Amino acid sequence: MNPEVKEQDIRPEVLLQRYLELSAEDARECFGAEPRSAVACVACGGSNGSCQFDKNGFAYVRCADCGTLFQNPRPPLAAFETFYRNSKSSRYWSDVFMPAVAEIRREKMFRPRVRRLATLCRERGIHVERLVDVGAGYGIFLDEWRAHCPATDLLAVEPSASLASVCRSKGLAVVEEIVEHVVGHDGSADLVTCFEVLEHVHTPLNFVRALARLARPGGYVCISALCIDGFDLQMLWDKSTQISPPHHINFLSVCGFETLFARAGLEEVTVATPGQLDVDIVRNAAARNPGVLAGHRFLQAVLEADGTAARFQEFLSASRLSSHAWVLGRRARSR
Ligand SMILES: [Zn+2]
Repeated sequence: MNPEVKEQDIRPEVLLQRYLELSAEDARECFGAEPRSAVACVACGGSNGSCQFDKNGFAYVRCADCGTLFQNPRPPLAAFETFYRNSKSSRYWSDVFMPAVAEIRREKMFRPRVRRLATLCRERGIHVERLVDVGAGYGIFLDEWRAHCPATDLLAVEPSASLASVCRSKGLAVVEEIVEHVVGHDGSADLVTCFEVLEHVHTPLNFVRALARLARPGGYVCISALCIDGFDLQMLWDKSTQISPPHHINFLSVCGFETLFARAGLEEVTVATPGQLDVDIVRNAAARNPGVLAGHRFLQAVLEADGTAARFQEFLSASRLSSHAWVLGRRARSR
């Protein structure tokens, strides 16, 4: 992320509120009659969890073994597929929200993302001849990667017909399918990327296994996702606007990411939290609702002054205590 990025830039308040209202309506209308089944921890597979809160009729459980927060009991996969294909909040996200913020996100999120990833690849000695981006959306990340590294062979995996068509209009090769159903590209990528999708998926283990399958033996998988160990999620908990069912149902801990990647057959797993927004998110939440920081006198003092707030954000990012995580793992050479 760019240090100058603010929550308001990428999630304007008015648009976000409308999106959250529609999400709450969809939660009732698309899932109200759906059966629920208990699932094991989506990260470590453990069954030692306790219910934390209920939001929009979706209960969230915290895994006592790895600290991951996940929606449980869970509606069936088919209900989520119907919801993403045809729901008010999903259409609002793709037709109104994203178009309104696409260009500012390009500048403040996607370009810094490409720079960070290119640096990471250089540091780790990852030579990227072929890159597959899963959940490519509007194709902005791949567009920016192409501007940075024009020689890379790129493939977008994007299940939404309208977004796949946007990717094609940018000259990108596209597989219009969910990653679990992609065929013909196994073992082909030096690097598989997937930004901010894991929060949404029904069965994270199957999903990360599908990402790993696309990587060549010795190739890499890099994802970004929300991390429950992060400052704003820990402070705001059930009041966090990021916990927005039916959309966001998985919030893995650092330990949860490491365990999930290992279960999916990935090695040399590293987790970093380069997020820049935790402090801004908590300050904004406190401006709307002073109760958020009630009793936290020390934090109030730290967050009040811009200088200490900025240094505190740097501390969070460097200490794996930001809610925006990057996870990198390598597919075993022998598989
Ligand atoms: Zn767990």
